Amino acid sequence: MDDARRVIEDGVVYIRGGAIDAIQKAVSPPPDGFETVPVTKTDGTIFPGLIELHNHLPYNVLPLWQVPKRYTNRDQWGSAGNPDYRKLISGPMNSSARSRSTSPRSSGTSNAKRSSGGRPRRRALHSSPIAGRDAFYRGIVRNVEQTDDPALPESDAHIADIDAKSAETFYKRLQKPKKMLLHLSEGTDAAARSHFTALHLADGRWALSKSLVAIHSVALRDSDLGHLHARGASMVWSPLSNLLLYGQTAPIADARKRKIRIGIGADWSPSGSKNVLGEMRVAAAVSELEDLQLGLDDIVAMATSDAAQILGWQEALGSIEAGKLADLVVIADHANGDPYKNLLAGDETKIALVMIGGIGRYGTKSLLGKCGTVSETLEVGGRSRALNLTQPTEDPVVAELSLAEATRTLKTALATLPELARKPVALTRNGNGNGNGNGNGPHWMLALDELADTGSELRPRLPDAKGRPTGPALESAGAPPTPSLADIVKPLKLDPISRADDHDYTEQLARQPNLPAGLVALLA
Ligand SMILES: [Zn+2]
Repeated sequence: MDDARRVIEDGVVYIRGGAIDAIQKAVSPPPDGFETVPVTKTDGTIFPGLIELHNHLPYNVLPLWQVPKRYTNRDQWGSAGNPDYRKLISGPMNSSARSRSTSPRSSGTSNAKRSSGGRPRRRALHSSPIAGRDAFYRGIVRNVEQTDDPALPESDAHIADIDAKSAETFYKRLQKPKKMLLHLSEGTDAAARSHFTALHLADGRWALSKSLVAIHSVALRDSDLGHLHARGASMVWSPLSNLLLYGQTAPIADARKRKIRIGIGADWSPSGSKNVLGEMRVAAAVSELEDLQLGLDDIVAMATSDAAQILGWQEALGSIEAGKLADLVVIADHANGDPYKNLLAGDETKIALVMIGGIGRYGTKSLLGKCGTVSETLEVGGRSRALNLTQPTEDPVVAELSLAEATRTLKTALATLPELARKPVALTRNGNGNGNGNGNGPHWMLALDELADTGSELRPRLPDAKGRPTGPALESAGAPPTPSLADIVKPLKLDPISRADDHDYTEQLARQPNLPAGLVALLA
């Protein structure tokens, strides 16, 4: 799959020093220097590494939320006022974040979940944005917020509070080339759309630019898409999350007619797919149901070449071409004839290899043994798989963690949530425990950016034309809400890491009230 989406029926990818040296038909002689290099037969279909543009990683420990009714904007469910939300999402996250031991483990597990779903983001997480400083775990998957590679420009996924309050300063920020991936107009009603119309400045200009990557965009009308397109902004689609919560998703057909570039992301496990591969399957099913005219190759492009274009990474990633980084996924299936069907049919068990920068990170033991080292083995859907989490630049706090240990710790934390909720809050944004809490290097904690005021915003909640805020205030850190968390949270089960290991996943989806008829059957 190159930028022209060509398919080579029987090919060889030659890799040197973490980058792709050449791609040739298998019958062609090897390029210079590869004459004695043994060819590793994958017996599968090789894709560019998948790039996911919307995922709240730490929340992926939580099981799918049984959505009780149809909402029309995110503030109806995602706020402290919704007791169900506090009991099942914010309460468990706040409680488990109190345990010092869980923060790096949530990150590690989320990352492993991404690994088994395809192209992972880097094992990355904020520490608390203390005094305006965000920090991220350094790990193995690429993170748009911190790439450490000039060929991969970094993006912002937050805006500082001060910018979040004025359309003019927000617009000024958008004049910079650095991309901003922000939630926009999540929901279906006028309140959801007001987050977009608030970008209309008093003098008629729009606070939009090619630096804006608008996540969700469900409430946008065709004329809104016209403004987005005219200013070169792009979109990120999370269909399952939208359909579970609102029974409706983004105007993808109209956006494609206007040639707006679209990426994809699973959002989070409480109301979305477990990984980007699952979300791509949802996209294919929704396209079929709603006759969106998306080819399977278009959907794969949302997580490869189009995603790379959105981030400005197209020179280095997003397709399999000489000179690009060797980020590859091997799908152990070539039975469908169509290579895109090979990727999108079935579940995570068909992932035979995930390679990042020429290093095997996840896969079958035999393939990983040939292009990486095995640091740990696991079972995915009853198949034996191996992980390679070794990285010299990794933060010590995650380097010493195995997936098995992270899983054990999180299982215990979620099973004992009421006890954890009774513990005093060990870490707060302004309290003790910031910086070098115990003298052993940085003190990490989860920045639960969906829930609490972390000093930066995931959404431009700009005032509307009458100066009214377009979103409610977040819980401020430290304010003790009632009833107390210990009284409402119940023990939870750690969400299975893959769809292949979640045996009643289809039944759980079938019970959801807002999914369109036929979707679950198509997915199954
Ligand atoms: Zn989100």
